[in-house]
Amino acid sequence: MNPQGIAVLGATGSIGVNTLDVVARHPDRFQVVVLTGHRQIDRLLEQAKRFHPRFLVVADAAAAADLRPRLAESGLNAEVLHGPAALEQVAVLPEVDMVMAAIVGAAGLPSAIAAARAGKKVLLANKESLVVAGRLFMEAVREGGATLLPVDSEHNAIFQSLPHDYAGDLDVAGIRKIILTASGGPFRGRLAEELAQVTPEDACKHPNWVMGRKISVDSASLMNKGLEVIEAHWLFNAPPDRIEVVVHPQSVIHSMVQYKDGSVLAQLGSPDMRTPIANVLGWPDRIESGVASLDFMALSGLTFEKPDLIRFPCLALAFSALAAGGDAPAVLNAANEVAVAAFLDRRIRFVDIPMVVESTLSVCDLSASASLADLLAADAEARRVALGKVHSC
Ligand code: NAD
Ligand code: MG
Repeated sequence: MNPQGIAVLGATGSIGVNTLDVVARHPDRFQVVVLTGHRQIDRLLEQAKRFHPRFLVVADAAAAADLRPRLAESGLNAEVLHGPAALEQVAVLPEVDMVMAAIVGAAGLPSAIAAARAGKKVLLANKESLVVAGRLFMEAVREGGATLLPVDSEHNAIFQSLPHDYAGDLDVAGIRKIILTASGGPFRGRLAEELAQVTPEDACKHPNWVMGRKISVDSASLMNKGLEVIEAHWLFNAPPDRIEVVVHPQSVIHSMVQYKDGSVLAQLGSPDMRTPIANVLGWPDRIESGVASLDFMALSGLTFEKPDLIRFPCLALAFSALAAGGDAPAVLNAANEVAVAAFLDRRIRFVDIPMVVESTLSVCDLSASASLADLLAADAEARRVALGKVHSC
C-alpha cells in the first residue's frame, strides 16, 4: 500500500498534536506533506524535524522569516509559506490525499472548504466551518466528490453508530433521534452567582478532556454543544427537533443514535481524541490509536441529566440560531469567537459571553449569504458589532 499524503492544518494545536501522535504509529500508512502552525514556531519546527513535511505554513512574513533559518540550521528543506491564502493552496496539493482540518475558529473555513472542493478526504475537527457555512460546505463536499469524516468525538460516535450506507435521510434509515452527549463542562452544578466570578483558568480546567483554550471555554458555556448541534444538523441532515442533548458527566458514551424499533446504538471509549482521530485516519479500516481499552470495572457509573438552559443560555441561543437559519449560525459563531477571546483576555466576565452573542444576533442582518465571500463579509460585520458589545459590557 502506498502511504497516503496528509496535510495537518493546525498541527501545533491540541487536535494537531494528537493527530501526529496517531500518524507516527503508522509510518507505512501516512506521509506528512504539510504542517501548519500559525504563530507556534517552536513547536512547528520540532514537528518538522520529526515528520519531514514538504510544506510548512505560518501566520505571516515575520513568522516565516523566523522559521526559515532555523529549518536550514536543522538541515531541513521544507518550503515555508505564509498567510491565509497559503492554507488554501496547501489543502489542494495533488500529493495531499487527506486534510486534517484542525485550525480553531472561522479562520479554518476557507482551507477546509477548498479541500472539500478539491475532492480530498476531509477529516473535520474545525466544527466552526459547518456552523458558519454549513450549506456551502456540504455543497462543496458534494460537488468536489470529497469524503467528509467527522473528528469531533460526538459526531464521530454518531458516524460509527449510523448504518454504513446512511445517505442523509433519518426516516429511510429508521432513525428517531440523534442524541448528543455533553459532559456539562467544569461549571456543571455551579450557582449563577458563582458563574459571574469564574476565571479563564477555571474555564480551561475541563474535567475529562484536555483541549485548546477556545473550545475549553465553549465547553464551559455549553456553546460547544450548541455548535455541535448545528454541526450534527449539517453532517447528518437532521432537523433541530430530532437532535437531543443529554448531559453525561463521565464522557464515556460519546453520543448515540436512537432507532424507531427502540434500539439505541452508541460509541463508548476513554475520553481521548486519538480514538476519533484514528477512526477517520484509518477509515474504513480500524487502526491502532495508542488509547487504552475502557476498563468497565473501574467505572463508578454512567449518569444522565438535562442540560440547564437557564444558567447556560448559549445552548438555547444555538438552537434558536439553527431554527432561524440564514446567516444566524454564522453571526452566533462570530460573536462567540469575539466574546470568548475577550473573556480569555479578562475584558468581560464569563456570564457576559451569552449577552454579547444574543445582543449581536439581535442587531445583525441574518438573511442568508449566497456566496462564501458574502458570508465572510457577514462574519466580519458580526465581529465588528460584537466588539462594540464587548466594549459596552
Ligand atoms: P488549539 O487552540 O489547541 O489549536 C488551534 C490550531 O490552529 C493551532 O495549530 C494554531 O496554531 C492554529 N491557528 C490558530 N489561529 C489560527 C489562524 N487564525 N489561522 C491559522 N491557524 C490558526 O485548538 P484545538 O483544541 O486543537 O481545536 C481545533 C479545532 O478542533 C477547533 O475547531 C475545535 O472546536 C475542534 N475540536 C477540538 C477538540 C479537542 O479535543 N481539542 C475536540 C473536538 C473538536
Ligand atoms: Mg465534541
